[in-house]
Amino acid sequence: MNLLFSNDRLGEYPPSLYAATRDPLPAFPEQRGEARADVVVVGAGYTGLSAALHLAEAGRDVMVLEAHRVGFGASGRNGGQLGSGQRLEVDELERMAGVEAALRLWDMAEEAKRLTRDLAARANVPVLDGIAHAFRKPAELDHARGLIERLARDYGYDRIEALERDAFRALVPSDAYVAGELDHGAGHLNPLNLVIGMARLADAAGANIRELSHVHHIRHGRRAGEKTVVQTGKGRVICDHVILAGNGYLGNLDTHVAARVMPINNFIVATEPLGARAAQVLTQPIGVHDTKFVVNYWRLDPEGRLIFGGGENVSYRFPADIAAKVRKPLLQIYPGLADVKLTYAWGGTLAITMNRMPCFARPAPNCLSASGYSGHGLALANLAGKLMAQAIEGQGDGFDSMAALPSPAFPGGAALRWPMLVAGMGWYSLRDRLGF
Ligand SMILES: Cc1cc2nc3c(=O)[nH]c(=O)nc-3n(C[C@H](O)[C@H](O)[C@H](O)COP(=O)(O)OP(=O)(O)OC[C@H]3O[C@@H](n4cnc5c(N)ncnc54)[C@H](O)[C@@H]3O)c2cc1C
Repeated sequence: MNLLFSNDRLGEYPPSLYAATRDPLPAFPEQRGEARADVVVVGAGYTGLSAALHLAEAGRDVMVLEAHRVGFGASGRNGGQLGSGQRLEVDELERMAGVEAALRLWDMAEEAKRLTRDLAARANVPVLDGIAHAFRKPAELDHARGLIERLARDYGYDRIEALERDAFRALVPSDAYVAGELDHGAGHLNPLNLVIGMARLADAAGANIRELSHVHHIRHGRRAGEKTVVQTGKGRVICDHVILAGNGYLGNLDTHVAARVMPINNFIVATEPLGARAAQVLTQPIGVHDTKFVVNYWRLDPEGRLIFGGGENVSYRFPADIAAKVRKPLLQIYPGLADVKLTYAWGGTLAITMNRMPCFARPAPNCLSASGYSGHGLALANLAGKLMAQAIEGQGDGFDSMAALPSPAFPGGAALRWPMLVAGMGWYSLRDRLGF
């Protein structure tokens, strides 16, 4: 079983709102026969296309090999929330890596947001400002106040506002929450149009993008000057460097990465346009996510449809009725929407790590990999692609400083992590044991 092929049709986008309303992008050719490139990138999501764009702009001969279509993976299916910071809060980062590293990681995350906003502007994709965090308990507001103060004092970030019950409900009219905060420096956007726009930019800069080109084997060059051979179904590419950008869909193409990065599925629905009822959901054009472990996240699109994400599973298969799975948390937050039609329902596969920090690695001498953004990849994946391009160009130490962070393997490693979870122990008990 391979997540690349288990829930979707070959070369087709999922039945999402994004796919149904996407900007046009002509198909790129399939890779056939033998070709050469300086760099091969496996996967055409944000990570891969950001790497390809930066490499092509630096004058490198780069080829992107995508098993399906540009943006087929999480990049074309996600909640579109461009959050601040890393997936871990700064206190946790300080405990994990020290104060200096935490400061650097915060700055990198800010750079990731700026880069993504810049790519969105170049791709003509609007970014709307404001992401609210919805709290279920008063203690969460106390915790947030402390963090807001620390971020302003020690990290130079003063764009988050704490919101008491009434102020929060004026923004998010739901009885499910007691307070919240609003990050004015975060934002939201159409994720598939961003990745489509990035493909256009990379193509215009000279990158060779290949669709329907599944990479099933890589023979790495091990000694100086030895080439790497990347094998697809109908062709192969001989190159100096390879970048792995398959994230949750990479499977066991590389066992070092597979042991550290675990795929997990997450689900979204979109309603019919809500008209005047949109104000019962949000009174401002912001995005929202809450503090549940299986996080709920939502926003309105320009036509007033509610795009709501909630629910996950760890399985090769999505549930048969995704809409029913997501409707449950949606109605807990907005019971008044019980009669609203869910017009689209889709799933996607992201990737998590044991410590919820991305896994940057050099699995072989001429191979770079970045993945496992743990639900925070919209900005970070774009930065990861740029850092890998810079590492190949011999510029900066951003990639190596990320690769120096601890990246522990999951129990069971590459061979066992999934069978163990899917068959026996279960995701939820593992989560409790690991303290996720
Ligand atoms: C439902 C959902 C909601 C999310 N919401 C948010 C959010 O609101 N905010 C946020 O920051 N993050 C969110 N994320 C996470 C975010 O989407 C990802 O972190 C990010 O898109 C990862 O980008 P990527 O390019 O690394 O991977 P992907 O976009 O998954 O791209 C990987 C690509 O590699 C290709 N591929 C894999 N293996 C091969 C192979 N062997 N040969 C050829 N091609 C291959 C795949 O087909 C795929 O197109 C969400 C994810 C999901 C699934």
